[in-house]
Amino acid sequence: MLRMMRNIKYITFETLSKVAPLKGFDRSEPAVVGFSVHCEKIYDGVIYRALLQFSKYFFGMTGKRLIVCTHSPLNPVTQYVIKNIGLKEAEYKERLDSLREFCDLGYHGHFYRKKKEGEYSTINEYSPHSDVAVGQIRQECGWFRDNGFTPRKYIAGWWYLNKDIVLELEAQGFETDFSMRCSGKDTFGCKYLQEDERLPVGDPFILPPSKRIIEIQTVFGPTSHPYRVGQLLGRFMRYGKDRKIYFVFSMHDWDLLIFDREIRASIEFVTRARESFQLSDFNVNELDAIRSILRKKRNHL
Ligand SMILES: [Zn+2]
Repeated sequence: MLRMMRNIKYITFETLSKVAPLKGFDRSEPAVVGFSVHCEKIYDGVIYRALLQFSKYFFGMTGKRLIVCTHSPLNPVTQYVIKNIGLKEAEYKERLDSLREFCDLGYHGHFYRKKKEGEYSTINEYSPHSDVAVGQIRQECGWFRDNGFTPRKYIAGWWYLNKDIVLELEAQGFETDFSMRCSGKDTFGCKYLQEDERLPVGDPFILPPSKRIIEIQTVFGPTSHPYRVGQLLGRFMRYGKDRKIYFVFSMHDWDLLIFDREIRASIEFVTRARESFQLSDFNVNELDAIRSILRKKRNHL
């Protein structure tokens, strides 16, 4: 016992991340995984700098781009905050310009109905107001276009989707969505798709009612200790071992201030198990490969 305790003091966080078990991770085809960020608060200089630094680290470590889905400055709450802290829209744009050197910038929608200045209600199943959500998507995507950004990846705020939102995203040219998390539930406890309307996590599918948007499902945030991340991953890694599976991890931009060490250790964990994982930023080539798999499946039906 005493000998064991003597050894334990040498097992630091970092060394634990290197000995985390890889049970059940043996696959004949890898899991293709991306890391996505729900980016909401880069008006805060500390969070912005943490995200920029982390993006450089991620690119250097993996050779892939971090998927950063962000608000435009026309998101009503973002707009209210940047006005109140005195940040100029041009400065917000500069921050996005710096981030895109290392990231793939997508869009993160949180939709609000303005009650009065500084007071906003959430658009969700209990307060649908699709016209407001669609109007906001058009406005924000207009801002992205006018400022030289062409987001093609989407993550829903509060994981909330409805048919009108999906159709508008398709009309705006979005190619990929990461809004289905493994539980299928959004933050309000509702489901956009029931179990029989979606495939298991790992299998991409076309997000209905769109004809083109590829759904890559989200597993969980890499904010736990890598040992725990290894345990949580087990259930997904055992699925479809003889074919490629696809999923993303998710985190918030502000998570970096609290869980930086856990997130980095989780990335090291994934990059270490090269035979089990293939890091991806779901670029055009990857999406074409997924489309071809989906076409073949359709032809077999
Ligand atoms: Zn969000």
